[in-house]
Amino acid sequence: MTFECPAWPPDWPEIEAAALAAIRSGEWGQYHTMLAKSLQKRLASDLDCSKVRLCCSGTAALELALRCCQISTGDEVIVAAYDFPGNFRTVELLGAKPVLVDVTEWQNDAPVLSETPTGSPIPTTNEATQISGISPTLCPEQLSAAAGERVRAVVASHLHGSFAEMARLRQICDQHGWVLIEDACQAIGGRIQNQPVGSFGHMGTLSFGGSKLISAGSGGAILANDDRLAARLGGLLDRPGDTFPLAPLQAAVIGPQLDRLDELTLIRSRVARFLVRDLFPDLHGWVPLCDPAINPQETAVAEDRISHLPAYYKFAWLVPSNEARQQVIAAGLKLGLPLGEGFRSMSKSSSRRCRKPFPTPIADLLAEQLVVMDHRALLIGPEQFGALADALRELHRLTR
Ligand SMILES: *Cc1c(COP(=O)(O)O)cnc(C)c1O
Repeated sequence: MTFECPAWPPDWPEIEAAALAAIRSGEWGQYHTMLAKSLQKRLASDLDCSKVRLCCSGTAALELALRCCQISTGDEVIVAAYDFPGNFRTVELLGAKPVLVDVTEWQNDAPVLSETPTGSPIPTTNEATQISGISPTLCPEQLSAAAGERVRAVVASHLHGSFAEMARLRQICDQHGWVLIEDACQAIGGRIQNQPVGSFGHMGTLSFGGSKLISAGSGGAILANDDRLAARLGGLLDRPGDTFPLAPLQAAVIGPQLDRLDELTLIRSRVARFLVRDLFPDLHGWVPLCDPAINPQETAVAEDRISHLPAYYKFAWLVPSNEARQQVIAAGLKLGLPLGEGFRSMSKSSSRRCRKPFPTPIADLLAEQLVVMDHRALLIGPEQFGALADALRELHRLTR
């Protein structure tokens, strides 16, 4: 018995039609196309941002956002110890120093700071998940404690279906005069209190990379909500050709995927909620990460509470050890489940490369024990919920 994952990238006829139209119009072979301009406009309007520029990757988007902030040698940028490793690298490449803070542990719907930073505050049973959980995103309570004269910016990523607490992060950044950069590479389509993800930071990043929720094979976008910073984008990008371009053919295939983004985000979030609430409580020792808004204890989460819509690029859960993780991934792949490891923790980097104001036990735990399942597996209708649940139950049984 194996699980059949839906095809990815999507094989929709409208994607083929859009690419063909770009070929027939000749735009495929031109600079500065209407295709790219209208995509920028559409992203700005869909994501509620004042300005959007397309670029060649999510990583380039972060580099450009940091350059807009004029980050350079000697500056510091706060990042989560558990995050896309390219973010740390990009800060370093600009000569700046990453400052590591931990990710968020929450309890009873309210995020709390771990009280035992050196111990193991982690829930390892499913009983424990009913009172607490982990959101793998920058912990706002640690921001001020990580402050320093050289800090200029903060990068906060929405990861694995959980949202960073943008309103609080923004408030703290504004108090300190720091630029908040929102990494929405995993979370396009998500909404927090009816506001689109990507519109909370002073700047933001999107990725259209080959595994992402919207793919152009590679690609990205810089989002700006601050006119002073956005004004620097032209000078960085136009020299006079676009220095980090997204090709017109790539721009063409993004539109049809945006058309269906809301529908697919909702499907994925329903499947994720089914897994968190109805399946994982039976799988002893496996602890799903989830946004407090889908706290399994909360019974009143309405199916249509679309004002808060998590976006799942990866669905993630903790297993009891790194060894168990290797077994789960190997056996899961055989069952047809698209599994892999989470990110590594940057806390192992030397203190020459980064500043580490305090231990980051939760980030370190995620780096060792997190299994992630690709969004393809979440793109299923209710008639396939049973097959996905069976495959996960079988995997749990095989790897006990
Ligand atoms: C994929 C990813 C990126 C980088 O995107 P690329 O287009 O691959 O450079 C950045 N941040 C996060 C959180 C990501 O998942």
